Amino acid sequence: MTELAPLPAGPGCTDAPVLRERGQREVFCGLTGIVWLHRKMPDSFFLVVGSRTCAHLLQSAAGVMIFAQPRFGTAILEEKDLAGLADAHAELDREVDRLLTRRPDIRRLFLVGSCPSEVIKLDLARAAERLSVQHGPQVEVLNYSGSGIETTFTEGEDACLAAMVPGLAPTEARNLMVVGALPDVVEDQMLALLARLGIGPVQVLPSRRAEAAPEVGPNTVVALVQPFLGTTAAALERRGARVLQMPFPFGEEGTTAWLAAIAAEWGVDAATFAAATDAPRARARKAVAAATATLAGKSIFFLPDSQLELPLARFLTRECGMTAIEIGTPYLHAGLMAPELALLSPGPTISEGQDVELQLDRVRAARPDLTVCGLGLANPLEAEGLATKWAIELVFTPVHFYDQAGDLAQLFARPLRRRAAVRFGTEARP
Ligand code: SF4
Repeated sequence: MTELAPLPAGPGCTDAPVLRERGQREVFCGLTGIVWLHRKMPDSFFLVVGSRTCAHLLQSAAGVMIFAQPRFGTAILEEKDLAGLADAHAELDREVDRLLTRRPDIRRLFLVGSCPSEVIKLDLARAAERLSVQHGPQVEVLNYSGSGIETTFTEGEDACLAAMVPGLAPTEARNLMVVGALPDVVEDQMLALLARLGIGPVQVLPSRRAEAAPEVGPNTVVALVQPFLGTTAAALERRGARVLQMPFPFGEEGTTAWLAAIAAEWGVDAATFAAATDAPRARARKAVAAATATLAGKSIFFLPDSQLELPLARFLTRECGMTAIEIGTPYLHAGLMAPELALLSPGPTISEGQDVELQLDRVRAARPDLTVCGLGLANPLEAEGLATKWAIELVFTPVHFYDQAGDLAQLFARPLRRRAAVRFGTEARP
């Protein structure tokens, strides 16, 4: 294995005790993922089988629909459906027929389950099979659950990608599959970096177009770009692929470690690696340094929400000089998080799950300089004089790889600067 850009690992948090809590949680549901997935896959349609609440959540999370043709919608379960008085399957078939007749451009149709469809035990897997027979091969009909029962919002993407895995074409060829929905511009940067390293063929899941879906087999190497894709990783392993364990590509250090792990697999020599990464590394370090003056020495508390908490805490503590008080994550995937835990300096409480009142007590006692949390908790904490950052913004904003490292640091610096400005009465913008 080629030795490339070794990371200066500290004692790490590998063996740190994990505080596990199972109480009331304050998180969005998995339907939220549709907001970024429908942009990523323009030939797909997401049909939520849910209630008016689900429709409202989607509309408010997605904002104004800017496309001439919408790429998601809700098949509303009415009271008679919920009471079992109507044949929901027959209604769903009619709804899908109408949609696909009107929209011949749709290649992938996702039936997305919700709390109401789960409560009435509507079998969307059976519906997807039946509709695939009717509408295939022109349209692939898949299903997954975005229900908010016992899930958090990033699990929607994980469930969606995992649903695609069984349908991927088999291959014996050696290939790299990069898994996780990235904004197109960031994906292009990543592909350009890998091309400069001479790594290929590279395929991505989810692909922008159905016909470009990746192939999978025993010689497929998988590189995740999001830490919340444990179910998808397991599904790919069942298809014979090997999932690399490495830090996630946030910040200069994370990006370098991520690329280095892949480069080692492909036997890239150190000179080629340096030639491809030295310049963007230097740019990233400079961009991060611009925010470090604001971030260094400040404390941060992560409430569990996006599942990005551990990699972001690693970036903010190691590259930006912050101190983590507590790093809460909805789920701690021991395998995927092992490289991140190894890089974290001991000290912070690491917690999994949530009992929101107990956790808020800890926030109030610690009074961190910055609290990363869901939308519902941000306003009350701001009213108590605490600066906050919305966790969901970290998923909607391009934050991966070298060219976004500075923007990622600035996302955390902005609320601190705003609070300082408000405190000193020089500026009071919302
Ligand atoms: S899926 Fe559940 S949590 Fe999400 S909007 Fe619908 S009812 Fe609410």
